[in-house]
Parts: sequence; structure tokens; C-alpha cells
Amino acid sequence: MQVYLDNAATTPLDPEVLEAMKPYLLDHYGNPSSIHSHGRQVRSAIEKSRRTVAELLNTSPAEIFFTSGGTEADNHAITGSLQSGEVNHIITSRIEHHAVLHTVQHLEKQDKVKVSYVELDSQGSPEPDHLEKLLQSNGPSLVSLMHANNEIGNLTDIKKIGEVCRQYQAVFHSDTVQAMAHYRHDLQDIDVHFVVGSAHKFHGPKGIGFLYVKADHKIPPFIHGGAQERNMRGGTENVTGIVGLAKALQIAYEKMDDHRQYIQGLKRHMIEQLEVTLPGVKFNGLSGGIDNSLYTVLNVSLPPTDDSEMLLFNLDINGISASGGSACSSGSNVGSHVLAALNSDPQRASVRFSFSKYNTLEEVDYVVQKVGEIFQVKA
Ligand code: PLP
Repeated sequence: MQVYLDNAATTPLDPEVLEAMKPYLLDHYGNPSSIHSHGRQVRSAIEKSRRTVAELLNTSPAEIFFTSGGTEADNHAITGSLQSGEVNHIITSRIEHHAVLHTVQHLEKQDKVKVSYVELDSQGSPEPDHLEKLLQSNGPSLVSLMHANNEIGNLTDIKKIGEVCRQYQAVFHSDTVQAMAHYRHDLQDIDVHFVVGSAHKFHGPKGIGFLYVKADHKIPPFIHGGAQERNMRGGTENVTGIVGLAKALQIAYEKMDDHRQYIQGLKRHMIEQLEVTLPGVKFNGLSGGIDNSLYTVLNVSLPPTDDSEMLLFNLDINGISASGGSACSSGSNVGSHVLAALNSDPQRASVRFSFSKYNTLEEVDYVVQKVGEIFQVKA
């Protein structure tokens, strides 16, 4: 049996999305910047896709910029905020994705900005009082805190963070890559200046994403050399990717409640079965809770055994794809910076299982059985 439980890394393309993309690979090949009919037809597909994304997020098409993915969108939001001269201080957390952390650290190394890290509670949630303290005691700040953590699934209340940011006139960027298309983002209801999306996390194609930039908020271009994306990102557009992204987001929004219920059922089942099969199993961060964590992610902390090092390898041999790692020990750059920030026990192997609408209960049972066998416990 082959089981793919690494959907937080990337998801399989939805065949319906592929069908929507095909005409733009084969028939509609004009350059969207050309003014002839071949070009105009493709331009119109891009703008229609932009409208679709904007409508789903309850915002205006002028606020949506297509990018090469989540990493680029995060980079643009952060470097752009700094270049605009609006902020001279960044507040983030130690468990952000590297798309945020490495960007911030790079800017800090160049002496372009001062960086503060908000304290986290024992489960990895930002401490709101400390965030306020940092906002009070520093100059104009950019707050970059993710909506859903890609490793441990923690959900952050971005509506609340947005309110705090507004109170202190801080700019708020949220890396929403893992939450996009799994939860509704009503951008009229959240005080946020930037959110981001990446199509391959919701059954769209790889190499395409978007950045939402609030209308009253101006940042400079990210890629120079063309007038595409309203001068914000030069270069001929990834037309098939853009069409695929919009289609994937549309499908996700239409079926969101059903998918959520279904995937949550898979996660709940895995928690219950693992607890029976492996006494002493724990779940990292908030991922063991059904309501306050991303329903697509379960980060399992396994009881210490001699086999734990080999866990992912053994899963792979059994046809199971997942990802993981233990907390990196201090001074080492291997392992998970997220688990290290939570002070999780480096002796325990951790594995992140992440689910999609294409997984089944049978697959979950198979994986639990194999984990049990690897740990030589009767499943
Ligand atoms: N941010 C988060 C939270 C992610 O999980 C990822 C992908 O793993 C990214 C950003 C980067 O997205 P992309 O692969 O589209 O560059």
C-alpha cells in the first residue's frame, strides 16, 4: 500500500484543476502583455482569476498580486514594508516558517532592522501581553505571525492580533499559507495588511501563489523589469498556474465544510488509534486538539526507543510518506527549529502526518498498524 500523508508539504493536483489549466497550456498561448486578440484572451483569464481570488477573500482584485508561491509573497511583504520606510522594527516568533524567519534574519544581519521575538507559551502560542509590551517599547513595527503553523498545526487568532496591531498602528503580515483554503479569510473582518497563499498546498499547481496587500498600504516592487502585476512583479505571468490557483481556491471554498469535517474525522481517528496502539504517545504543540489546531496536521511525538531514529526510513520502506524530525540540539542546524523552540525532548522522534481530502480511514489504519509494528507493539 502506498500512503501519502505529507499534504502540508504539498498536495496532489485536483484533476478538475488540471482540466481548467489545459487550455492555457495548449490553445491559449498568447503573451498576456500583447495587445492582439491572442494576448487579450489570456490577459482576460488572468484578470478573471484575480477576481475569483478577491471575491473568495472578500476583497478587491487590485489588492491581489500573483507570485511564484508562498516564499516569494512572504519575502515581498517583509522586505517591502521595510523599504517603504514605514517600519524599523520587526516582531515575529521563533516558530515561523523559514520563508519568514530567514528573510527577517537576513535583513537583521544587514543592520536594516531590529528584530524581536514574541514569547510563546509551552504549546507554542504567542503570549499576547508580551506582544503588546514589544509594541509599546519599540518604534514603528511590522508584526509577522503565521495563521497556522506548518509543523505543529497551531492556529493563531489573527483577528485578535490584528486588533492589537491596529491599536499600536503596527503593520501586520500573516503567513497564511497553511490555513488558506482550509479556513475562510474574510479580509473585511480581519485587520491585516498582508496575507499570502500558495496553490500547491490546496490541490493547485506548484510555483504559483499570491500576496494580498491592503489597498491603503503601498510597498515597492519586488521584481523589476516589466509592468506585470501592476508594476509590482516584472516577468511574463505564469498563466496556467494563475488559472489553476483560482480554480483550486474556488473548489476549496465550495466544498470547505465537507472537506473539513471529513479530514477532521481522519485526524481524530488517527489520534484515537495511536493512543491505543502506542501508550505514551504525545502530540506536539496544539496538534492533538481537534478545535484549536489545523485539521490537516497531526504532529506525533513517539515514545523513545532505539528505532526512533529510523522511523521515517521505516515508514518509507512500508510505502508511507510523512515528514518529521526531532528537536535540534543546541548549536546544531539540523532538526526542527519549531520543536526546538518548544523545548521538546530530542530523544523522542517526531513525525508530522498531514491529511487531505484524498486520504482514507483505511490508509490511516494501515499507517497506525505500521507505526505499531515499527515500535514492536501489537497494533
Ligand atoms: N509558509 C508556510 C507556513 C509554509 O508551510 C510554506 C511551505 O511549506 C511556505 C510558507 C512556502 O510556500 P511555497 O512552497 O509556496 O514557497
